[in-house]
Amino acid sequence: MNGLDQEQLALLKSMLERRRDALARQADAARAGAGELAVEEVETSPADKATVRLLNDLAQEAAGHNAAQMRILKRALARFDDGSYGDCEQCGNPIGFSRLQARPEARLCITCQTRAERH
Ligand SMILES: [Zn+2]
Repeated sequence: MNGLDQEQLALLKSMLERRRDALARQADAARAGAGELAVEEVETSPADKATVRLLNDLAQEAAGHNAAQMRILKRALARFDDGSYGDCEQCGNPIGFSRLQARPEARLCITCQTRAERH
């Protein structure tokens, strides 16, 4: 039992869904931007090429971070479906509403999180 009522669950779920949607929009925008840069690279000087390459690298790095974040959010949302959302994945205790409000994607209770970070 995660100790959350329906209202709290609905709030946390909508927070996760909003983040997921914002991330999806960002990923689309990044893809569109990277496409434009790739076209420009053909016509620019060597110095500009280096800059374009750097920008492409940054865009790719951001995209990678986005993808990782997206996996975390989707995983958290999937746990609403099997009813395990809000339970610590390690010890099974409730993660707690105040912690989830700050980090709705949290998978561990504060005790297990602290222990995991120490190792
Ligand atoms: Zn725990």
